Amino acid sequence: MVGRTLLSVAIIGGGPGGLGTAIALSQLPFLHVTLYEKNPEPREAGAGISLSTNAWKVLDLLGASDGVKGGSNSDTHQRNAYTGNILSITKHPENSAADTRGAIRARRTRLQSALLAKVPDNLIQFSKKLIALENVPGGGVRLVFDDATEVNADLVVGADGIHSIVRRVLFPDHKLRFTGNTAFRVIVPKSRLAHLPDITSTTAWWWGEAGHVYFSGVDDENETDDPLFEITVRSYKEPDVPGKTVIWGIPASNEKVASRVSSFDKRVQDAVSVVQEGEWGEFATFAGSRLSKITGWEKVALIGDASHPLSGAFGSGATFAMEDGWVLARALEYSQFTSRPVHDALEIFNAIRSPYYARMYEHLDEVGARMQQFKSESTNFDEFLQAKINNFLYGDKDFIYKNDIGKVWEDYLTSAK
Ligand SMILES: Cc1cc2nc3c(=O)[nH]c(=O)nc-3n(C[C@H](O)[C@H](O)[C@H](O)COP(=O)(O)OP(=O)(O)OC[C@H]3O[C@@H](n4cnc5c(N)ncnc54)[C@H](O)[C@@H]3O)c2cc1C
Repeated sequence: MVGRTLLSVAIIGGGPGGLGTAIALSQLPFLHVTLYEKNPEPREAGAGISLSTNAWKVLDLLGASDGVKGGSNSDTHQRNAYTGNILSITKHPENSAADTRGAIRARRTRLQSALLAKVPDNLIQFSKKLIALENVPGGGVRLVFDDATEVNADLVVGADGIHSIVRRVLFPDHKLRFTGNTAFRVIVPKSRLAHLPDITSTTAWWWGEAGHVYFSGVDDENETDDPLFEITVRSYKEPDVPGKTVIWGIPASNEKVASRVSSFDKRVQDAVSVVQEGEWGEFATFAGSRLSKITGWEKVALIGDASHPLSGAFGSGATFAMEDGWVLARALEYSQFTSRPVHDALEIFNAIRSPYYARMYEHLDEVGARMQQFKSESTNFDEFLQAKINNFLYGDKDFIYKNDIGKVWEDYLTSAK
């Protein structure tokens, strides 16, 4: 790449992955970066987002950790949704030593604003929905948008989320499936729940047979007099509906959400009833198998949910997406420095990130197999629930929540010598 004119990079999608990538790549002087986002303005659907040490590591590297504040995720309670019995209390080990900021639950918009603030002006083009892409032999990638405009880019970063068009074009045989699992999410002023101290006093999961409810603060209580509080109702057995892919952040009626918790402890039902009509957002979740490769055409990289449709498993997908973008930037920088072509940089990116995702899929397979066994062995719901919670907490997940992406890159450099 040495001595050439600027390499044009098109990032598709302005979620945490696309924004993180835009920050990292815009710092490389040999690139000309443009981000194309289909929405007309910055928009972050959903409610809260969990951030752990792995998130702080990459946010620090991106220079975007300032201003990302949220509620502490320490002391998480696991409860029986019907009786309210506390079955387990988890303390986040991170909240003691590894990083003083520890595990937090923040508003998604806080993360988005922090990232947006670090993206150079005029780098993002809104109202640009990618509808087609084509490999130009001997050239770059032709991108076609729904406003009938076209551009050609030397390198494309597919950061367009779980339903990624970039992935669909690159890997047409790869399929997503509706998991049956739908999240109804909202954030409300905590003051609305003042009459329910059992709900607001700590982050908690209330587990039922066909779903669970998650409660958590999303604000740093030292920052505001009326912090916001998240309620997520998860329903595991929603019927499949053709065209469900569009169900992402659409409004859900109070009646619909209330019906999913009608057999739960009254405290849960009371908490759900403080939500006003029109406030709930409904998110149908999809999953897909692991891609053996997250690059294509020697000039396209998939990052974040586009590269690994994990359906929100591990609750750390935004961090994975930002890590992808940061590592991609390092690989491009390294290739430039060592006079190698772009596709070598993509190989390096793939060699670092694909095995990492493989490890996650392996963990999910293991947990899934354990769950099947518990299902067949349990004789009553309490027994099953305890096994499920143990399984939920099962395994050493430091490779995720304590991942230090800067160190991962240093290790790569050491091994490459
Ligand atoms: C219910 C639920 C809870 C979750 N909780 C957490 C959590 O606590 N912590 C966490 O880290 N992760 C969580 N996740 C996962 C997390 O939301 C995702 O992993 C993360 O948002 C992925 O970021 P991304 O940038 O890859 O994709 P996205 O955030 O999906 O962003 C994709 C962007 O691309 C744009 N786009 C899409 N198609 C096009 C197109 N054709 N042209 C142009 N632009 C396009 C979209 O508008 C969007 O802005 C959760 C997921 C779910 C479903």
